[in-house]
Amino acid sequence: MAGKYICMDIGGTKILGTIVDENNNIIFRAKKKTKANKGLEVVEQRMAKVVEELLEQSQIPKEEIVAIGAGAPGVINEDTGEIIYSPNLPWKNYNIKKAIEDKLGIPFFVGNDANIGMMGEWKYGAAVNKKNVVGIFVGTGIGGGLIVNDSLFSGSKYLAGELGHMVLNPEGPYCNCGQRGCLETYAAKVSMTREIKNQINRGRDSILKDLMDMESSVIRSKPLKTAIDQKDALAVEVLDKAIYYLAAGTGSLINIFNPDMVVLGGGVIESLGDYIMPILNRYIRRFAFPDIIEGTEIVESALGDDSIIYGALALAKEKQG
Ligand SMILES: [Zn+2]
Repeated sequence: MAGKYICMDIGGTKILGTIVDENNNIIFRAKKKTKANKGLEVVEQRMAKVVEELLEQSQIPKEEIVAIGAGAPGVINEDTGEIIYSPNLPWKNYNIKKAIEDKLGIPFFVGNDANIGMMGEWKYGAAVNKKNVVGIFVGTGIGGGLIVNDSLFSGSKYLAGELGHMVLNPEGPYCNCGQRGCLETYAAKVSMTREIKNQINRGRDSILKDLMDMESSVIRSKPLKTAIDQKDALAVEVLDKAIYYLAAGTGSLINIFNPDMVVLGGGVIESLGDYIMPILNRYIRRFAFPDIIEGTEIVESALGDDSIIYGALALAKEKQG
């Protein structure tokens, strides 16, 4: 349906809200802390606050908003709006759609953030009009989304697309999910940070010693980029290993799905894509079948940080239209 939408990216630490106009442009933005540790009601209040602030800032009457779309981490039934489980938000078997609609009186739709991010790239970003797409989002962890035969594939129980938890080595490092050797334990920020800190603590020299917060379990993208730009040996080595494993995971997915396109996004790709993509493209040939790789485009996300916002727009339009 044409009209204005409110689109939200609900994370464990912050909630980003936007108003998207009839031409699919983001015209207003508001951000608030999620305060996830304060419980369910507080998170709902924070979401409502973001919506209020957007309406106030824009002077757009509530009646002009067709619907609210949102992406959030966790297992989410996008048809009913029930959050079955979320790793970093206080929701379990909870119908957030009903709660928000009762509170705000605007139709509300929500889906898993990585799946929704994939939908954003597919409807408005890098993968428009592609029939089969694999989306891999590399940040603190690794999220994924799958477009199969022209629709978002969410599986029988809304759990599909957990590409970061593809086990590459059953005897590998422990993962947050309880498994060992998941792709995420090799190629995401948490694992890179662990490796960098281990090496520095062992006495290895690196400019990251001064650039990064050695107390934090997740390195920020900026110091990592600075170290790579300055060809810091440790940073180059750690990132190279991460790209190698990312290529193994991506190559396997290409063999399984034979997609038209693979879209890589997330914070790590956002800041280091220019460096990562050529190396990834080289390594991937080691893992994907030559015949398949020839017909597969491997590209960076076009929407970057806004892929979830645009996915939320696509979801709200699909469900409300
Ligand atoms: Zn895992």
